[in-house]
Amino acid sequence: MLGRTTTRPPLVVAWEVTRACPLACRHCRAVAQPERHPAELTLGEGRALIADVAQAFPGAVAILTGGEPLSRPDTLELAATGSSAGLQMALSVDVGWLLTRETCSAIREAGVGRVSFSIHFPDAARSDRFASTPGFHRAALAGLAELRAAGVPFQLHTTVMRSNVALLPRLHALVGELDAAAADLPEGARPEILVQVDLAGEATKFGAPLDEADRIVAEAVDARAVRLAGLMLLPPWNEDQEQTRPWFVRLRELRERLLGRGVPASALRHLSMGMSHDFEAAIEEGSTIVRVGTAIFGKRETRT
Ligand code: SF4
Repeated sequence: MLGRTTTRPPLVVAWEVTRACPLACRHCRAVAQPERHPAELTLGEGRALIADVAQAFPGAVAILTGGEPLSRPDTLELAATGSSAGLQMALSVDVGWLLTRETCSAIREAGVGRVSFSIHFPDAARSDRFASTPGFHRAALAGLAELRAAGVPFQLHTTVMRSNVALLPRLHALVGELDAAAADLPEGARPEILVQVDLAGEATKFGAPLDEADRIVAEAVDARAVRLAGLMLLPPWNEDQEQTRPWFVRLRELRERLLGRGVPASALRHLSMGMSHDFEAAIEEGSTIVRVGTAIFGKRETRT
């Protein structure tokens, strides 16, 4: 039985369900083998593990990975077990030819909310060579098309290496092509996103710098795999909400400026700003989404 070892349960749990994988990537650290290892957990043991995870960390994201998880015939049964237990199931797939139409439907039926797929080069020659597998790249694109047709959201993972760092713009273009192909996704299959804006330029925060916000918002509006729903801000910390209020005002003004430049109101209907100590000022300045964890659950304990 798993127990909580920290006061803050993990949000993401990854289980390498098998080390079997038909590929032989140059950077493989999983010592992938063509055959499954005899000491892998059985289906019954795996179900018990998932039940433990769901009980110890309710609602966590659970990633079934490998090796190639679809090398196991029962991986989607494990995924369905996790979905039924309330976990947010994800699948890390690397082998495109395993993503057949039937398998993609089964992935959706198992309640898998997202598939990640690794692709490190924009062209077939380099991709195939890296995976030591002729036909890898073409199969990857075909498999991603099947995922898209089945309405299963997916994301691409790329390991940035000396051998591909100069090719990142071309990989970005490939992502754009896949995004364009997602134009026919049903409305409900496209997740909504917020663009985080970094108004204060803090080194500890992420987000679009103010002078980049117009361009990034325009790209987000044009993206077809997602729907832009608004802007988000994490202002510099201050106990006094009147000190934070000017940052909220600036985000509201940015929204008004973007509306004035023709960004559709539907893409800017949310302003996500304000936390437990300053949500009242944030709401007064137009916030539609606040994060009030401390006000509800108390201060988070930290490990010593
Ligand atoms: S797909 Fe993953 S497990 Fe398979 S060879 Fe490549 S890195 Fe290793």
